[in-house]
Amino acid sequence: MTYKVAVIKGDGIGPEVVDEALKVLEVIGEKYNHKFEYKFLLAGGCAMDEKGTPLPEETLEECKKSDAVLLGAVGGPKWDDPTAKQRPEQALLGLRGGLGLYCNLRPALLYAPLRAASPLKDEVIGDGIDFSVVRELTGGIYFGDRGRFEENNEQYAYDTEKYSVTEIRRIVKTAFDIAVKRNKILTSVDKANILESSRLWRAVVEEVAKDYPEVKVNHMYVDNAAMQIVRNPRQFDVIVTSNMFGDILSDEASMITGSIGMLPSASIGENNRGMYEPIHGSAPDIAGMGLANPLATILSAAMMLKFSFNLQEEAEAIEKAVLRVLEAGYRTGDIFSEGMKKVGTKEMGSLVIGELSSVKVPC
Ligand code: NAD
Repeated sequence: MTYKVAVIKGDGIGPEVVDEALKVLEVIGEKYNHKFEYKFLLAGGCAMDEKGTPLPEETLEECKKSDAVLLGAVGGPKWDDPTAKQRPEQALLGLRGGLGLYCNLRPALLYAPLRAASPLKDEVIGDGIDFSVVRELTGGIYFGDRGRFEENNEQYAYDTEKYSVTEIRRIVKTAFDIAVKRNKILTSVDKANILESSRLWRAVVEEVAKDYPEVKVNHMYVDNAAMQIVRNPRQFDVIVTSNMFGDILSDEASMITGSIGMLPSASIGENNRGMYEPIHGSAPDIAGMGLANPLATILSAAMMLKFSFNLQEEAEAIEKAVLRVLEAGYRTGDIFSEGMKKVGTKEMGSLVIGELSSVKVPC
């Protein structure tokens, strides 16, 4: 089968880490008999330089024609003027909106060989951290009505949290579908003791839950959830929440795994079309030096196989290969500790490919 992938390497370390992910996909293609057809596209700072806009029309159109998008990172000091009309990050918002990507999925997974990198105590980590945050991405307060006005000689500003039942049902259903494939525990995070939008959110979760009797559902206020993520992260399997709460909690969740260079993410829309990218930025301080950790991007490619192409076995083969490389003691600078073997971007990619080559494909 042929899968069409739009590839946006972007800025900074983007091209370096994406190249390693593409090499891994080639090996998967050969081993499992799939063809990945790539369309290389510009977005971010490099697109501003070449085309005068962070998201050229052609990029969005080609992404719409593809089955999935694999993205490195965008941005960098060259385009960092906060007063500028155009910024590289506008490309990400344009892609999410233009492709209708309403669900952001971020796994918080602490690899056993990297447990020393977590800021949490050993007894809190216990036998490991492994949960996913499902964040609503195209609604809520970031898209609601906002403005400023004056009243009684005082300046005011307001932002509005607004969700429809349809928007909530769609993201909640996606979260249940993910929970079914994991440990079947769903925590819905809201602020229903105060916010009306949260009370509607909770009611919709209860309604959708009836279709998933095998999933254990609990509701948690967002302030408690922020505390529980560092106090007892092992209680979580899948967390589903609104755009703003998810923005904050998913960053907290990534921190407890210790390394930004290890974490993939997916933004998914209708018909499983998705955009897959590492959560890190363009890391201008190490760009072009061959030092970047490519594992977050390689694992993003694995998420693409799992969620957009339904290739579970292939995705797991990549995840296992990454784990074996870490178990063998290989580390890029960002995850290096005493006694380990330091490697660069390309070597890390080759090590993963080496492990993949030894995976046996069932006939
Ligand atoms: P960053 O994630 O780029 O870097 C933070 C720190 O982590 C740096 O020290 C960097 O060297 C290190 N780091 C990040 N990824 C790494 C990797 N794969 N391997 C090894 N080390 C890694 O965040 P920042 O410095 O705040 O932002 C730099 C630029 O990236 C900014 O222009 C920002 O706007 C942009 N950015 C883009 C995205 C995106 O494209 N999705 C996300 C965040 C930031």
